[in-house]
Amino acid sequence: MTQSTVASRTGGPALPQERRLVTEIPGPGSLERLERKRALVADGVGTTLPVFVTAAGGGVLVDVDGNSLIDLGSGIAVTTVGNAAPGVVTRVQEQVAAFTHTCFMVTPYDGYLDVCAALAELTPGDHAKKSALFNSGAEAVENAVKIARVATGRDAVVAFDHAYHGRTNLTMAMTAKNMPYKQGFGPFAGEVYRAPMSYPFRDGLAGEEAAARTLDVVEKQVGTANLACVVIEPIQGEGGFVVPAPGFLPALAEWCRRNDVLLVADEIQSGFCRTGDWFACDHEGVVPDLVTTAKGIAGGLPLAGVTGRAEIMDAVHVGGLGGTYGGNPVACAAALGAIEEMRSHDLAGRAREIGTIMHERLTGIAAEHPVVGDVRGRGAMMAVELTEPGTTLPDPVRTAAISAYCHSQGVVTLTCGTWGNVFRFLPPLAISDALLHEAFDVVAEAFRATA
Ligand SMILES: *Cc1c(COP(=O)(O)O)cnc(C)c1O
Repeated sequence: MTQSTVASRTGGPALPQERRLVTEIPGPGSLERLERKRALVADGVGTTLPVFVTAAGGGVLVDVDGNSLIDLGSGIAVTTVGNAAPGVVTRVQEQVAAFTHTCFMVTPYDGYLDVCAALAELTPGDHAKKSALFNSGAEAVENAVKIARVATGRDAVVAFDHAYHGRTNLTMAMTAKNMPYKQGFGPFAGEVYRAPMSYPFRDGLAGEEAAARTLDVVEKQVGTANLACVVIEPIQGEGGFVVPAPGFLPALAEWCRRNDVLLVADEIQSGFCRTGDWFACDHEGVVPDLVTTAKGIAGGLPLAGVTGRAEIMDAVHVGGLGGTYGGNPVACAAALGAIEEMRSHDLAGRAREIGTIMHERLTGIAAEHPVVGDVRGRGAMMAVELTEPGTTLPDPVRTAAISAYCHSQGVVTLTCGTWGNVFRFLPPLAISDALLHEAFDVVAEAFRATA
């Protein structure tokens, strides 16, 4: 993709696709606003990089001080199609001028149906599917569990080590990591059980071996007869971009099918072209019973979905699913615009190209810096795990230092992982090769500067 196509694809006034620092990061304007944030916003709402944004598009964010930063985070895998992508902006503007809300449960509208049609077409499997729309990922996961419980008549839910499913009470119970997500917020919802995840860097197990270990825990500690659903991120997000060994997901899916347990794929972070397919499950041909989506689905507007086998989705009584804003017409318009961008620009293909570049750059860094224990991910969802050389002992201090260095040089980077020692990359798929390479030049420099 050339510079000019990127510029023509950014919304509003085309933003120069460049890293441009005119002050320290954060600059004086941002620092002033950070003080205001301290006075006005609850301390519990954290900030990764306190630059206050005024515009964004393609692969850059522009701040109040006039700095232009390269975005390797996409607002946590949300602006996959690029910020203010033209297809999203146009549809949102048309919709917001026509009507802003009716509540789909009161008086419905076409946009909701069109998003459900797209979800039925694009999610894994060619069986009859239906969907319900919500506002956030956590809300989608909650509803997937509600549906699975009614459809199976069972209570138990299995989630995994390193899982992240959200911050509501049920999804906190399903999320593995205590700090910062759970500390002090209990008691948590019951009937949620945790099973070992396939984590090749740490367990060295092949997919089938890891699945056997997992399913032994499920059968012996939960009991198949009690189990409504197994909920898994096909590539884990917040937990460290953990990619299960090949064969793990298919073995899990096969066991679920044999035991009438529903397989729920949480594709909230990995879905919508991020990994180089429409969904991460597609890579191994895994067909889950239910799929949760959010984040990348709507180019930055809040929208989430549960999509699944029609007979499972229909198990819930009329009126049992919904919410005031779920499937808001403006958010649905944004989703239709985002999906159109993904189709017409083959953004799954673009994610694979970006993945090739990132993998090459990261293996280059790994060869120079033994602190890199593992390079992993797929497509435009790539990470390095930092450990004390030659061991699996996590190195969160170095990880934080490298990320801070990147921030100071105008590259927006994120970390993740149970031990905070994973440095993850989620660039918008509208980023140019040149800008991506420049960002990874800074990442490489960060490894050297913090050595
Ligand atoms: C972000 C995320 C969620 C929660 O989504 P919210 O919109 O923040 O509620 C759930 N599951 C996964 C895999 C996520 O990455």
